Amino acid sequence: MNLTPNNISEFEKAKCEFEEEQNMPHEEVFARHEKSVAEEMQKFNSIVVAVQNEDEPGCQVCGNKRQVAVREIWDLVNLPRIKLVQCQSCAGQIKIYNLGKMSGLDNLKTCTFLEYTTRLPFQIDLLQTARRFAKTEESDDWFVLLGQSGSGKTHLCTAICGELIKQEKKVCYLRWAVELKHLKSLANTPEYDNEFYRIFKNDVIFIDDLFKCGNLFEKDKKIGLAMPTDADIRLAFELIDRAYAEKKILIISSERTKTDLFEIDEAIAGRLKQRAGQEYFLEIKKDKAKNYRHNDTKKRKDIDG
Ligand SMILES: [Zn+2]
Repeated sequence: MNLTPNNISEFEKAKCEFEEEQNMPHEEVFARHEKSVAEEMQKFNSIVVAVQNEDEPGCQVCGNKRQVAVREIWDLVNLPRIKLVQCQSCAGQIKIYNLGKMSGLDNLKTCTFLEYTTRLPFQIDLLQTARRFAKTEESDDWFVLLGQSGSGKTHLCTAICGELIKQEKKVCYLRWAVELKHLKSLANTPEYDNEFYRIFKNDVIFIDDLFKCGNLFEKDKKIGLAMPTDADIRLAFELIDRAYAEKKILIISSERTKTDLFEIDEAIAGRLKQRAGQEYFLEIKKDKAKNYRHNDTKKRKDIDG
């Protein structure tokens, strides 16, 4: 104990009490400790602290301290004392909250299955398939959602991640264009392996907008999607192959079609198709009516998909 003017008096008090107790019957000492333990416990447990972030779950049991004071018997001296234990009332919720924070997904609250708009028949089917995928807890299947831009792919994939987080799985969100740039900047440095380690210590990896490399224009008119470079393809293969080898759950969204994917790289497309199977290798056919950005931009403008 470091003695400062503030705690010298505390120390002196404890010392006096200790000396006093040497000459007291044990029952009396016990009763004295019991009383002070009860008071200290009451004091600690009644403190309410503000939550760190506004979306953090609040808890009336521990007053957001995530710990509660309990009484235990200190065997060595056979006296009651205080022990701080994790609050069981909010521990599960906090674990899930922290997994959500660590995933890097900012839209878990808004991008849920319940919030997914099922205006068109294909959306009803997709929602059912995504729910089914998220429900099978023991599976390490992949979920690949391709096609039409702005059709809510990111929303649905995020909702799946939210469900997997509730099953206490560790999720890592990678926005393809950002991660690609980041990994390329780390090439030939030790940080490159560290980044892979950071990604693959998770159970689930969500690659959003795979092979997004911008649009091709002709006289200011969009005529298609730019093709990924050989380096982009190598990196994608490295990520996908490692997920394959390590039996990670992979969730992929991409504006590319199945045909595009096979044209870009057969090995990548083959792996995705094999692990996602008939059931979860999905493509939303190109159709402007399926683009909520054209139809419903106001309501969904914060969701990218
Ligand atoms: Zn609590």
